[in-house]
Amino acid sequence: FPYAYRDGLSYGELQAILQNTPSPEKLREWSNYYTAGPHLAGKNFSQVLWTREKWKEFGVEDTNIITYDIYINYPLDHRLALLKKKGNWTEVTYEATLEEDILQEDHTTGLPDRIPTFHGYSASGNVTAQYVYANFGMYNDFEDLIKANVSLEGKIALIKYGHIFRGLKVKRAQELGMVGVVLYSDPQEDGEITELNGYEAYPKGPARNPSAVQRGSVQFLSFAPGDPTTPGYPSKPGCPRQDPHDYIPSIPSIPISYKEALPLLKALNGHGPRASDFNEYWHGGGLAHKGVRYNIGPSPEDVVVNLYNQQEYITTPLWNVIGVIKGSVPDEVIILGNHRDAWVAGGAGDPNGGSAALTEIVRSFGEALEAGWRPLRTIVFASWDGEEYGLLGSTEWVEDNLSWLFRTNVAYLNVDVATVGTHFNPRASPLLNKALYEATSLVQSPNQTVKGQTIRDVWDGRIGTMGSGSDFTAFQDFAGVASIDFGFQRGPKDPVYHYHSNYDSFDWMDRYGDPDWHYQVACAEIWSLLAAFLIETPVIGFNTTDYAIGLQEYLDSIKPLAENLPENKRFSFQPLEKSIKNLHNVAVAFDAYAADLSVRLGEDIPWYLWWKKIKLLFEIRGVNNKYKSLERKFLYDKGLDGRNWFKHVVFAPGLWTGYSGATYPGLVESFGAGDSENAERWSVIIQKRLEAAIELLS
Ligand code: GLU
Ligand code: CA
Ligand code: ZN
Ligand code: ZN
Repeated sequence: FPYAYRDGLSYGELQAILQNTPSPEKLREWSNYYTAGPHLAGKNFSQVLWTREKWKEFGVEDTNIITYDIYINYPLDHRLALLKKKGNWTEVTYEATLEEDILQEDHTTGLPDRIPTFHGYSASGNVTAQYVYANFGMYNDFEDLIKANVSLEGKIALIKYGHIFRGLKVKRAQELGMVGVVLYSDPQEDGEITELNGYEAYPKGPARNPSAVQRGSVQFLSFAPGDPTTPGYPSKPGCPRQDPHDYIPSIPSIPISYKEALPLLKALNGHGPRASDFNEYWHGGGLAHKGVRYNIGPSPEDVVVNLYNQQEYITTPLWNVIGVIKGSVPDEVIILGNHRDAWVAGGAGDPNGGSAALTEIVRSFGEALEAGWRPLRTIVFASWDGEEYGLLGSTEWVEDNLSWLFRTNVAYLNVDVATVGTHFNPRASPLLNKALYEATSLVQSPNQTVKGQTIRDVWDGRIGTMGSGSDFTAFQDFAGVASIDFGFQRGPKDPVYHYHSNYDSFDWMDRYGDPDWHYQVACAEIWSLLAAFLIETPVIGFNTTDYAIGLQEYLDSIKPLAENLPENKRFSFQPLEKSIKNLHNVAVAFDAYAADLSVRLGEDIPWYLWWKKIKLLFEIRGVNNKYKSLERKFLYDKGLDGRNWFKHVVFAPGLWTGYSGATYPGLVESFGAGDSENAERWSVIIQKRLEAAIELLS
């Protein structure tokens, strides 16, 4: 009867250990370890061994390396040049280095084995063509170009990073017959903190180093994450494999810095309309002061770009490290995960601040075990490999353990980028809102404008919806596990974060990102206290009413999209609203009943009323089973239209955004397509899922 009779540490004692153990010095030490050299997916085995050893040393005996064989690319060669055709010969007017500057002040930027600038899952190719400036490369940007009769077929796209997941930019360009994509980081995305506003560039100051390049995956994230040759099942050695081309590009792409984009942008001056005159959504960018007029092009016939990208594709092992502390209730499991692989030798922000935090948390829970703690629920720690290429390690593991997760998994708590600024920015399934408010109220804010301020006090309380872009995706959208993802992001006044660049380094973190390492401490504490809350309270600390409230808010937010349906085919939201209302009613009653069980468990029941106690424990068990499986009720086994790996009817990455979430994606996509019949079909599918949830909680 573990819900009632516990030995070992009290919950309060556990919390004290989790709050007192993490130290800035240790976090700095672990971070220094993880960011000392290249550790690309499938090429970080020494860190796998180190992670396993550390976790064992800290007291998590049951720590293992779990291997999958994944299809992946590594860079061989590349070129980007601007050419001017002159009769029979061609002049090279600009040859890009495709390198980031080596900085004396930043020790990993000049490592001889530093990782080249390239895209994960990009296609090999060698194309020479005229080019077009396509703004952010969003679906609507391309639509605008088509409407304005800018010819795209056979051309190369020059696109700014930002707003949506990069792979979807490449996907759309490919669909429109373009032959290559060049992605660059426009300083426009840096807001206030630019050289133009007088800030010096890194390493001298907080502005963007002009040579910084954002690497990154160009897989088609919103269609299926994971190994693109094994969608839906684990990449075990010898397993059958599919043609990956529904999930990764067939045209080459390359990432460049703004410094190296300048000659290409300037060569478009005077050709085609200017972005600022084009329409209300296109505004040019942050390089006007460098002589860029942001003309759309195409470049003149005699001004072409040569884009050459050579990738080696192989199937090779990738390693997750999985540590388990068995709880007294074996089939109620809380999982904490972070990825280990990085695009660059450093990766102090992405992801190894999170890796350092995870190390520190394992050490903290280890201290608690040492002091006699016996966890109520089972806790699983995961150090994922291959997140950067496409959430590979986590997705394959979820696909591999699906039936066990269905039976046991209560929640998945993800931290990717722990700290690259001061802005706390969580997103979660609404079931976890309450737990997050609890945990953040226990952690001191590193920035105390009023003494004693907690993270909860300084945070606006906003919790985003689940999209994608990190390892929670397979848990939330494929396995129906209530998930959360959080960290401290860059705020508007914070130093520029050099995402996926060599300058996301230990030295940058130590000088600009989190010089005192106090945000790292805060992140580790939030993570472990959130876990402890979910592990230790006899009645799982979920709240179903918040889910019902969320469902109504999401529905309100998509209503305007229904305007896109044909005039004579009005869509009625009423049946869905009615179901949500019913769910809300049973949820309120259910949460009240659960709260009452908690209270009764705390009361003294005389021994001769032992049967009352037993009945109470069975009731708690029943409530926990329901809390645990509520999220599963929102899975639709046939999946979303045209991307059936995604099973959740409430949350999915936006089809053409990737990172940010679409709520009720089936409806949203039907509205977008003006397809009222399909919208009705989805309305019925969602109602059925809501009814299943109502039945569960009734
Ligand atoms: N965090 C990675 C990125 O944003 C995820 C890559 C992916 O999901 O394919 O680039
Ligand atoms: Ca797979
Ligand atoms: Zn990451
Ligand atoms: Zn990343």
